Amino acid sequence: MTNSRDSKRIFGTNGVRGIIGQDMTPDHVYKISKTFGTMRRGRIALGRDSRLSGSTLAAAAKSGLLSSGCEVIDCGILPTPALQYIIKDRLDGGVMVTASHNPPEYNGIKIIEPDGTEMGDENTLKLEQMMYENSVPIVKWNVIGKESNSPQLLEYYVESIVKSFPKDIGNGMTVVVDPGSGPACSSTPKILTRMGCRVLTINGVIDGAFPGRLPEPSEGGLSALADLVKSSKAVMGLAHDGDADRTVFIDEEGRFVEENKEFAIIAQYICERKKGLIVTPVSTSLLVEMVAKEAGCRVEYTPVGSISVARTMRERIRNNENVIFGGEGNGGLIYPEHQFCRDGGMTAAMMVSILAARKMPLSSLIKTLPTRCMLKEKISGKNSTFLMKRIKRKFAGENIDLTDGLKIFRKNCWALIRASGTEPFIRVLIDGPGLEECNSFLEEIMSAISTC
Ligand code: MG
Repeated sequence: MTNSRDSKRIFGTNGVRGIIGQDMTPDHVYKISKTFGTMRRGRIALGRDSRLSGSTLAAAAKSGLLSSGCEVIDCGILPTPALQYIIKDRLDGGVMVTASHNPPEYNGIKIIEPDGTEMGDENTLKLEQMMYENSVPIVKWNVIGKESNSPQLLEYYVESIVKSFPKDIGNGMTVVVDPGSGPACSSTPKILTRMGCRVLTINGVIDGAFPGRLPEPSEGGLSALADLVKSSKAVMGLAHDGDADRTVFIDEEGRFVEENKEFAIIAQYICERKKGLIVTPVSTSLLVEMVAKEAGCRVEYTPVGSISVARTMRERIRNNENVIFGGEGNGGLIYPEHQFCRDGGMTAAMMVSILAARKMPLSSLIKTLPTRCMLKEKISGKNSTFLMKRIKRKFAGENIDLTDGLKIFRKNCWALIRASGTEPFIRVLIDGPGLEECNSFLEEIMSAISTC
């Protein structure tokens, strides 16, 4: 199956990313931004994460936007969801300079539409076509855009989250926040403090060299956070990825909370209060569907990537469906009442409010969930297009789904094999009721891949 996503030349699952000086340069960013500015001439917000290459690329993006006649509102370093909130229904679009969870040598951009969502496949293809046809002129000297610096707009996002919850709901809780030296250093501690929490931070100073840990908030990189949670007797710890659209949690005993369990805990809470639809990609554990169904709600699956999830949510709402929640099984969760993008600050605040309402420790909340296990593998050094064709042929006779990559269903398990949209890997996910079933399914899949 070829879809519009496969036809894109430079955009991946979430924008454009590359290694600085190799496939990501200021010139590249200038061209993309100038093309975007021509498509959406108007007031455009610009933001960046904390990477060392951020100011260079942001300057290139600004130049591209101004030379296409746009007014640029430079918001400085801030989380991607903060920029999206600032744009939503007020501005004509945005450019976020970020490589999200990728290592420090990477950078890239996410293009934001006027509704605050990331640009979808259809417009991305138009943008790429315009860019490659060299059909984008610089505007006349007297209509070159104006710029303004507006770092204070971050406050608007912070306060919008605080106001979404009852006053002082975090009173009496100690929470440890690890923004990973990224943009949420300036937002999440503020949000939780204003909700009444006592907040301790680790990696809490903006630093694009990422001295404490990598931008990906993986379990292995969060041992210092886990130690501080235990020693400070905090109710939980939380960590963001490099642009703070994702949040992961550490329970009060210092244990990493697998992201699908985090999704399920929040989904369960929301589904008990509202009935409707949850939208999530095919890569999310069945756990979320199990808790949603138990509470009388439905789940719809999309291709992988928050853009597909956010756009499907908006479409279903236009069709008068009651969409109550969405997100991915990687800690990137979407709250439609606030905005249609993954929101790390909102997820941190939501977990505080859940702990307050449930009056239970996070570790006990996790124990109330059905047992489910997920295994993740990365395979490099394979030609992904060739491999995906072969592997689809191999499993064609089984109960499969081709929404994104290949999903194979067995009795209580599923396997998903797909080319990563952000890195040069094939990803394999196995979801099942226990480790034994998952391990034997994974072994079968890996052996099938090795012979393809
Ligand atoms: Mg991110």
